Order: sequence, then structure tokens, then C-alpha cells
Amino acid sequence: MPRKTVPKSCACGCGDMTKGGKFIPGHDTKVYSAILRHIDGDIVDLRGIVEAHTNSAVMIPHD
Ligand SMILES: [Zn+2]
Repeated sequence: MPRKTVPKSCACGCGDMTKGGKFIPGHDTKVYSAILRHIDGDIVDLRGIVEAHTNSAVMIPHD
């Protein structure tokens, strides 16, 4: 039996409905881009904000 998907309002705020996911395909990227613009593209700031919010360090793989 196929899993039922429940359309949701896209989390980017565009007002369109998804096919069951949080975002319409590609709209998650729009949110990511908007966040980066909001903080003037400072990914170091973003890391700090996320670490403070989650109270844990973002692990960066260096391989
Ligand atoms: Zn959207």
C-alpha cells in the first residue's frame, strides 16, 4: 500500500502546497539563500548561531 502523502503549506512562506514534504522542490534553497543574505553571507556567524541554539558544536569533517 503506498504511503499517503498529505499536502502541506510550503515552509518558505510562498503560500503554495507541497506534495507532502516541508518545501516545494527548490524552495528550501530559497530559504537558505535568504538566511545567508540576512546575515550578510557570514557563514561563521551562522555556525555560531546554530551552535548557540543547539548548545553543541557543529562538527566539520576534514578529510
Ligand atoms: Zn515555497
